Amino acid sequence: MSFVPPGTGWPEDPATADTPVALDPADVRRLAATSDTLAELTAGQSVCRACPRLVEWREQVAEVKRRAFADETYWGRPVPGWGAERPRILLVGLAPAAHGGNRTGRIFTGDRSGDWLFASLHRTGLATQETSTHAGDGQRLIDTRVVASVRCAPPANKPLPSEKAACFPWMAREVALVAPYVRVVVALGGYAWQAVWPALKDAGYELPRTRPPFGHGAEVEVRHSGAPVTLIGCYHPSQQNTFTGRVTAQMLDDVFTRARSLAV
Ligand code: SF4
Repeated sequence: MSFVPPGTGWPEDPATADTPVALDPADVRRLAATSDTLAELTAGQSVCRACPRLVEWREQVAEVKRRAFADETYWGRPVPGWGAERPRILLVGLAPAAHGGNRTGRIFTGDRSGDWLFASLHRTGLATQETSTHAGDGQRLIDTRVVASVRCAPPANKPLPSEKAACFPWMAREVALVAPYVRVVVALGGYAWQAVWPALKDAGYELPRTRPPFGHGAEVEVRHSGAPVTLIGCYHPSQQNTFTGRVTAQMLDDVFTRARSLAV
């Protein structure tokens, strides 16, 4: 089993050796609720050990590695929210990939989906670089923050319902902390669309009574503290979706161009 010990010099590591570690779902609820800043919250997220199956999997993957990355140290920890501290656009995904975020320590970084996503964010003026390869590579998001609904890489990319529920307070608290600034929420994939709804509710958003169906480019207007906020659906740039043409670069660019125009 392997992971980067907190506070040992990994670039962008939000935690230190003293960061409190959640060991079960009750700890997650308590530590998320008492985190008053994004720095405190992301530190707690990045050392969480509340889901035994996911902890074992992420650390086993980090130990065994994929041959192409055999010389690299894997992060092997939960992948915290990343990006602007006062974002106008919030992107919500499902979970990090075993050899992507679980290796690099940054969400949507180190796999094909991330390559598609960051290239589009760069083309549409929301990222400073075309690629996101590793923590400390100089990449920076512009007015944008990315979070995952489940922070640990799950086997077969499928978290269990109990794991989604255990991780929910981390996302809900992050959504609440950035709510004063956010004008657009983009849900990457149907699961993120479902998962973000209760997080928005927890954060005090006024939501329509019925949840509209997910679709690429689907839009719903919600409100926070009286201000309009737009929730936009976006197909996930998974390998399957991009190989089959279900998602094209132009489709991603259209969503992020729309998000940017609404956010400014
Ligand atoms: S999935 Fe979430 S709650 Fe579970 S161990 Fe990872 S960070 Fe903690």
